[in-house]
Amino acid sequence: MLAVALLLFVFGLGLGVLLNSLADNLPPDANDLRHPPRRPRCRVCGQAHAPANWLALAALVRHRGRCEHCGAPRPTRAVVVELAAGGITAGLWFWGARAGLPLVETVAVYLAALVFVQGCLLITVIDIEHRLILWGVVWPLALVAALTGAALPGHGLTKTLLGGIAGYALTLGIFVLAELYARGLQWLRGQPLDEVAFGGGDVNLAGLIGLAVGWPGVLLSLTLAILLGGLYSLGFIVVQLLRRRYTPHSAVPYGPFLVLGALTIYLFGKDFAVWMAGR
Ligand SMILES: [Zn+2]
Repeated sequence: MLAVALLLFVFGLGLGVLLNSLADNLPPDANDLRHPPRRPRCRVCGQAHAPANWLALAALVRHRGRCEHCGAPRPTRAVVVELAAGGITAGLWFWGARAGLPLVETVAVYLAALVFVQGCLLITVIDIEHRLILWGVVWPLALVAALTGAALPGHGLTKTLLGGIAGYALTLGIFVLAELYARGLQWLRGQPLDEVAFGGGDVNLAGLIGLAVGWPGVLLSLTLAILLGGLYSLGFIVVQLLRRRYTPHSAVPYGPFLVLGALTIYLFGKDFAVWMAGR
């Protein structure tokens, strides 16, 4: 048991290196250029790290977290993502095994969850750092979520597709209403209309989440996301008011809250349903 957990954790650290490389290279850089995923390299001197230092965790131990070429500190995010990816890879195995399904099905459920949850980790990192949810990240994950949701025990084709459509359509509706509200407010005040600040990436992400958690879980998942995002925004406004620096409509990235709501329902939705039924 412990050996399996350890082995999966180490494999997950390797996945973390891949996720870090994707998070470094997929979003457009300062010159609006995109790179294909490359070997881990220093952000300051640009040189590729030696393979023994690809793992930021190893560089933390061997070079106190500094680049072996120029001595610049390596980003903390790399270590955090590696540890998170390792923990997810090991933890999901035990999550998948508790249903007591035959081994082949357990492995299939595990792999589907591994792709979705690690994908959510990547989306969260890029959204926090760039305020971007990349279509190139969302669509492959959506394809995997649709295929595995249709094939694996749990949802089936109808609930999977219905979840995806509902997630996409509901979020689109919320954003259109918010946009109309903002424009109406500007019109009443006689201000010129801003460019549309439409969260298209969030709508795509909600579609992916709907495919993964299925119908009707997507409703609960979105409700949770709105509640968590609302609480965060409220706290944010209170802190700003206390510092006397309140600026309305400060952009909050919604992606992390959508992900948080989705993971809660994806991982623990069944326990929640059983608990509700037992009351
Ligand atoms: Zn360097």
